[in-house]
Amino acid sequence: MSKEELLKKLEKELIEDVSLPLRESNLVFGEGNIHCDVLFIGEAPGQKEDELRRPFVGRSGKLLDKLTEAVGWKREDIYITNIVKRRPPMNRDPLPEEIEAYRPYLTKQIEIINPKVIATLGRFSMNYFIPTAKITRDQGKIFRIGNGKLLIPLLHPAAGLRSTEMLKKLTESFYKLPLVIKKYNILIQKEPSHEEIMNSSGQERLL
Ligand code: URA
Repeated sequence: MSKEELLKKLEKELIEDVSLPLRESNLVFGEGNIHCDVLFIGEAPGQKEDELRRPFVGRSGKLLDKLTEAVGWKREDIYITNIVKRRPPMNRDPLPEEIEAYRPYLTKQIEIINPKVIATLGRFSMNYFIPTAKITRDQGKIFRIGNGKLLIPLLHPAAGLRSTEMLKKLTESFYKLPLVIKKYNILIQKEPSHEEIMNSSGQERLL
């Protein structure tokens, strides 16, 4: 089966899985270039995303688009999804059990798309991969997470919209992305555990 077919099949499984939480909201599966180098993973859809059934189409999405264009890419070049694929009521934070319920689907989605680099947006998606990481300390660092993948935790665009200091950090870290892809072959060589990478001071050592 092609990647397209595998993703379609996965989406159908998600629709049909009545055990999943938040089924009163629409499914926002994810979209973009399925042959991308970088996969962006946010938290959960908001109101606009729920309405349009597309990830990052509200204010945060506009900032994500701007940053993507600033590094010379188009939205169509990247793939965007979320750890939780339906909107939590009142845009509350996703609950641990909601994140766990959707985990097998995101795992499969990542496996199918098979990007070189995963860019997480916000602390929930960062902690999904590296539970011990701290967003203020670790955003912008490069981690090896196994299966030939690098991970760069980014601040959530919503944080960038709230504070100029956060926007500066998000922008600086975002600008590393093309370099991370360019240097992928060097950066990926060893595969220590998350802890080993974090303790060895992340980006200074890897980039
Ligand atoms: N915030 C997220 O984390 N994901 C979206 O899709 C939109 C806003």
